Amino acid sequence: MSRRPARAYIGLGSNRDDPTGQLARAVEALGRLPNTVPGPVSAFYRSAPVGRRAQSPFVNAVAALETTLAPAALLRALAHIEAAHGRRRGRRRWGPRPLDLDLLLYGARRIQTARLTVPHPRLLQRAFVLQPLCEIAPISRLPPYKARLRLRLRRLGAQRVMPLDRPGRPSTAPRSGAAGTSAPGQGSAAA
Ligand code: AMP
Repeated sequence: MSRRPARAYIGLGSNRDDPTGQLARAVEALGRLPNTVPGPVSAFYRSAPVGRRAQSPFVNAVAALETTLAPAALLRALAHIEAAHGRRRGRRRWGPRPLDLDLLLYGARRIQTARLTVPHPRLLQRAFVLQPLCEIAPISRLPPYKARLRLRLRRLGAQRVMPLDRPGRPSTAPRSGAAGTSAPGQGSAAA
């Protein structure tokens, strides 16, 4: 049975072993997934760790994909990419990691299984996810939340996230209305 393509949004985070390089390679790996066409990728943002503070800052981004992979297959593919980047599961939560990939949204689907919750349960709590998501996602493509996302982002203004300059990218400036873009450091980590 062929499946209609869904627009999925993937949250990326890293705070070990060249985080910017980890994210750049992960974006390339996402673009090579089968049955998938890569979409826009946000700027890379620096954010301070959540939970365990005694660790390096994170670099975060969000990438869009058009995919006919089923949600569970996409999650498995994300785990493979994480493993290829040296991520070992079973390590402590919120700890340092070379690469964390989260399935934030899969079209308008709401999914609750033992392995997968979509929309991602911490999507609305993390400026380092919302900020890059709002940068690349037309609000009309986010049916579960729509305007709530921007409102929520304004409320998360205390979690400051800082766009990083990347060579070869036209602009890292967030779109107007996004909060918390002007100071480094008090933000958050992988969702
Ligand atoms: P973490 O270590 O925080 O990246 O959590 C990974 C675990 O969360 C995996 O065992 C996944 O099965 C589970 N999980 C549940 N929902 C999601 C989601 N939307 N995206 C990524 N992992 C998820």
